[in-house]
Amino acid sequence: MSCLIFLMTLMMGAFAVASAYPQESSVFDVTQLTDRIYKLSTDGGGYTVKIIVSVGEDGILLVDAGQKATAEDLKKQVLEFGKGIPKYIISTHAHVEHTGGNSIFGAAPVVIGHKNLRTTLRSGLYLFDEFPDESLPEITFSDSMSLFFNNEEIKLIAYPGAHDNSDIIIWFTESKIVCVGALSNGSHFPSVDGGTGDIRKYPGIVGEVISILPDDVTIIPGHGEDGTIDDFRAFHDMLVETTNIVRTEMARGKDAATLQEEDVLADWASFEGSYVNRNQWIQYLARGFTNPDYKKTIFEPMYYAIKEKGVEESITHYHDLKNNHREEYEFDGNELFYIGYKLYLIDKLREAVKFFELSTNEYPEGKTTWMCYHFAGKIYREMGDKETAKAFLKKSLELNPDDTEADEILKELDRE
Ligand SMILES: [Zn+2]
Repeated sequence: MSCLIFLMTLMMGAFAVASAYPQESSVFDVTQLTDRIYKLSTDGGGYTVKIIVSVGEDGILLVDAGQKATAEDLKKQVLEFGKGIPKYIISTHAHVEHTGGNSIFGAAPVVIGHKNLRTTLRSGLYLFDEFPDESLPEITFSDSMSLFFNNEEIKLIAYPGAHDNSDIIIWFTESKIVCVGALSNGSHFPSVDGGTGDIRKYPGIVGEVISILPDDVTIIPGHGEDGTIDDFRAFHDMLVETTNIVRTEMARGKDAATLQEEDVLADWASFEGSYVNRNQWIQYLARGFTNPDYKKTIFEPMYYAIKEKGVEESITHYHDLKNNHREEYEFDGNELFYIGYKLYLIDKLREAVKFFELSTNEYPEGKTTWMCYHFAGKIYREMGDKETAKAFLKKSLELNPDDTEADEILKELDRE
């Protein structure tokens, strides 16, 4: 498990919550792309989350269903098309900002995805999301399939193993639109799942996708800007060139820190985005080239320990794993934050706060330590313990002066 890479993926979610929290009802922007294809976009917390909708005489088909937090809004928006609930939901890949809304329409829509999607959504950190059965794909494939819907052939083709292990593309052949999920991030560096993705495969897989597409298609990534095939080629060139530079320099004995210091990717500064800058991209690449065989994560054993033995006993179990099974499991300083954050999202606040506190004790100088204080502070506030809330939020602000939300809550608490 790659700490940084997984951290990035998760921090996207963390910021989504941090910034989406006060707004409560997030709204989708609706753009009509062709006679039958619409795009719903929303701010996922500093990055765009897109859902593509096919509307026609056969009814509604969705590509991705967005975050769980926006699922009710999605439902409202989809019903406004006047064609009822979707017949099909196709998932571009497993990540929660694409699959979190899968179950909002109940069991009726047929979910379609890569063969690995079922197992992935029921493993590792995804266990904490407790995806209901209706979120999982009923139709899976590992090569390709076609769906004939709203007067066009929709080709689904599997390209797993780069961004995560369930990446597919969805090609609306008449509409000349291709949803590529995270196989493009528009004009920005992409992210790579630390558990199931592999940065070394990214350039090759993206090259394969480009090779089968005609010149007149519009490329729609799950997050980054829509573009032409030439834009997609520019993204691919960036992948090939930055990968070659980092690989070559590392073969000369340089490490990630040196490459960052030498700013070897300065020419690709324009690809920096809201969650991956060029130094982080160097980290992703360096990690991919140096340590591809990751250890297991503690998420599954911890999930079952909490479920079966309760939170206190699960913490004893954590210490046992850390003290006696270090060879088997990865302890990267962030795993406790992930667990706390997932518990927080499913409203298990008492359990969540235990993990945030454990994390600050185990890793007082970790990358996620400020976030542990941040969320623990918010939970204590919700529980009515104003003084502890203040102490934790102050600590968060001390570690991360950019934590404006903590600052605002502290001011509110002082006024109360
Ligand atoms: Zn993703």
